Amino acid sequence: MNDDSNAIIRFEKVVKRFGDATVLDGLDFEVHKGEKVTIIGPSGSGKSTVLRILMTLEDIDSGLIYVAGKPLWHQYRNDKQVPADEAHLREMRKEMGMVFQQFNLFPHMTVRRNITEAPVHVLGLSRKQASVRAQEYLELVGLADQADKFPSQLSGGQQQRVAIARALAMHPNIMLFDEPTSALDPELVGEVLNVIQRLSEEHDLTMLLVTHEMQFAKQISDRVCFFDQGNIVEQGPPEQLLTEPQQERTREFLKGFL
Ligand code: ADP
Ligand code: MG
Repeated sequence: MNDDSNAIIRFEKVVKRFGDATVLDGLDFEVHKGEKVTIIGPSGSGKSTVLRILMTLEDIDSGLIYVAGKPLWHQYRNDKQVPADEAHLREMRKEMGMVFQQFNLFPHMTVRRNITEAPVHVLGLSRKQASVRAQEYLELVGLADQADKFPSQLSGGQQQRVAIARALAMHPNIMLFDEPTSALDPELVGEVLNVIQRLSEEHDLTMLLVTHEMQFAKQISDRVCFFDQGNIVEQGPPEQLLTEPQQERTREFLKGFL
């Protein structure tokens, strides 16, 4: 049984708890194919948890999640709903690539090796094919000449661009970005935002981005969602949500970014 809406990501009444804390509180949320959606909100409001759940790095307590029309955390066998097994989760993960705040590159591997590992081991590409693909994405992020370096030899902005190339090399339909510029020195933020901007102009990629860069959110988003206490308080087109928010909580939050 498939979800029949045209959402590529769909959360239905999703609850996530850590111990006594309810981190997602019955979240309903949809992202459509090709849409660029930005999530903003205070620290601890559940933004990273949404992305981590999608990557199956965290499970959920109740509710339903569909990715590309298929249930993420369960599957159907002989028309019966059963918990997702590792093979199902692996298939679902292929839909998505994620870029983390702290880059998360493998420190002991060259840039090329960082990018080729998953295409070789998960997709079954040959080393040669994966290297060709790595080079293609290194060119896209402006690092064609850095393939033989180790992460520690690169700036933070370069490392984050490698992380973006690594995610893209898996050919995901959906890219998830969790505060991709928050760990960078201010002068390195622009080069990473430029790469994300260029990606956002390739319109078939669906993007879900958590950021505190409000000006950037305004430029690239089709929709901005304001999260607070594990739910969406308000959402809308960026020019509306960021300049004429309807809710007091949104106004209070945005005051900090004037
Ligand atoms: P945000 O990204 O919006 O800052 P998070 O999604 O990271 O927020 O976290 C939401 C809440 O869940 C926070 O209160 C955080 O402390 C808590 N939390 C996140 N991950 C864990 C975990 N692994 N164990 C316990 N609590 C967690
Ligand atoms: Mg976070």
